[in-house]
Amino acid sequence: MNEEQNQEASDNHTPPSGGGGVEGRSVGIRIDIISVVPDLLQSPLGHSIMKRAQQRGLLEVHVHNLRDHTPYKHGQVDDYQFGGGAGMVMMPEPLAILIEKLQSERTYDEVIYMTPDGDSFNQQTANRLSMKGALLIICGHYKGIDERIRQKFVTMEVSIGDYVLSGGELAAAVVVDAVGRLIPGVLNDETSALLDSFQDGLLAPPVYTRPAEWRGMAVPDILLCGDPKKIDAWRHEEAFRRTEERRPDLLSDDVLGKT
Ligand code: SAM
Repeated sequence: MNEEQNQEASDNHTPPSGGGGVEGRSVGIRIDIISVVPDLLQSPLGHSIMKRAQQRGLLEVHVHNLRDHTPYKHGQVDDYQFGGGAGMVMMPEPLAILIEKLQSERTYDEVIYMTPDGDSFNQQTANRLSMKGALLIICGHYKGIDERIRQKFVTMEVSIGDYVLSGGELAAAVVVDAVGRLIPGVLNDETSALLDSFQDGLLAPPVYTRPAEWRGMAVPDILLCGDPKKIDAWRHEEAFRRTEERRPDLLSDDVLGKT
């Protein structure tokens, strides 16, 4: 990465071209992300729905390069771990300096550390976070961040699955995408998110588009009948059937009561 790109990827850079201004709006979220590899976030948050969310001023993402805030020479942000063992640990002071700087500028609803030992991220968490105003996300690297930062600043620890990534950036991008698409006004048809998998405890029903007959396979007749009530009922049945087949664990008493 050359100097110019480095600067571009550093502080207060909104990944996609042109983010609007969330502050002062009643709807919208500001998300600050702390990273040692800010470039990793550029593409995932710079296209499609995430780009549109930012252009509409409904989502504001600021990626901060931790190396720009370290008090140590040569951009040092990590050091050997006490007790020995392979792998470096992210030092507490650069993180504390940046977190305190950001917290002095605004109040965050949550300070989130992306970590494999955190709570599993799911649609309910995404729904809850989509109603917040400001989130600060810390991406770890190497062996992770010094435990004392977790104790002092972190209010929420989030894992995107039971596997280990090299860094928190891809995990943070997953969270921002899942949360961002739920902000009112981001999707062109707001009911679309409501019909996605997990929103009502069920998986989504199958979907079809033109042509109605393709390589000898026909679209279910009911979808062509023009009766919205019948179509809704069919979709609900299919969603239930698919959930029963693939994810029976999702069928709580609550969900079963609604069917
Ligand atoms: N030593 C850590 C452990 O075993 O729990 C793993 C560190 S991992 C190589 C580096 C960073 O990637 C973590 O600090 C975290 O920010 C991020 N990360 C890795 N896997 C993740 C996951 N499943 N969910 C969220 N973040 C993850």
